Amino acid sequence: MMRSSEAWKMICPNCGHAVSVWESGGIRWGAKSVGKRVAGRCPACGTAGMMPLEKRP
Ligand SMILES: [Zn+2]
Repeated sequence: MMRSSEAWKMICPNCGHAVSVWESGGIRWGAKSVGKRVAGRCPACGTAGMMPLEKRP
């Protein structure tokens, strides 16, 4: 389960940086979050807010 979940990334709306939902840590999400947005913070540009989830290899 952990392995497949690693494919899910938050995409920063500001710079497009893809952040692993596991790397970001402390973020509550699950199957219900698919196609929705999660609260997070971009480590690349510092933008915090709701970010769309995208499944990437
Ligand atoms: Zn960013």
